Amino acid sequence: MIHNTLKTSDIHPFLLKKMTIRLSTNIAKREFFDKLAKISGQNIQQCFQCGTCTGACPMLDKMDTNPRKIMRMAQAGMYEKLENVNTCWVCASCHSCNVMCPRGVDLPKIMEALRQMRLRKNQNMIEPSRLPVETIKECPQIAMVAGFRKLTS
Ligand code: SF4
Ligand code: SF4
Repeated sequence: MIHNTLKTSDIHPFLLKKMTIRLSTNIAKREFFDKLAKISGQNIQQCFQCGTCTGACPMLDKMDTNPRKIMRMAQAGMYEKLENVNTCWVCASCHSCNVMCPRGVDLPKIMEALRQMRLRKNQNMIEPSRLPVETIKECPQIAMVAGFRKLTS
């Protein structure tokens, strides 16, 4: 009786390496990339890394990483790193980067999409219940409402 079952040990190591399908990280990266592009409505690959956005950003000194690097990380699907920097939360949506970008990338929309992706996981940037009493007393109500809309899910 002839058995046609192919065992892993029958395959040459070189071929086995070629045949291996590495699914997890690449698919996750692709899904993240597609989702970010869909929510933001932006063509992320348009960015050619000139850095003009970074030079135009008034909030740069408060950011963990600059807007140009955010675009590079987005292009590479580095969602774990993007989730751990404060840049999208600090972005003031002032549009300085957007009007200067030679490729027409609407970076504030990318930042908004990054915030949305975090908020949809119920991850708040601030916890209203933990705000100091002094802040609540001194902060104008409209600023509180605007802050909660941007920073909480
Ligand atoms: S200005 Fe535009 S093209 Fe240049 S790095 Fe920023 S997003 Fe990319
Ligand atoms: S919109 Fe955000 S990233 Fe762009 S310049 Fe203003 S603060 Fe910086």
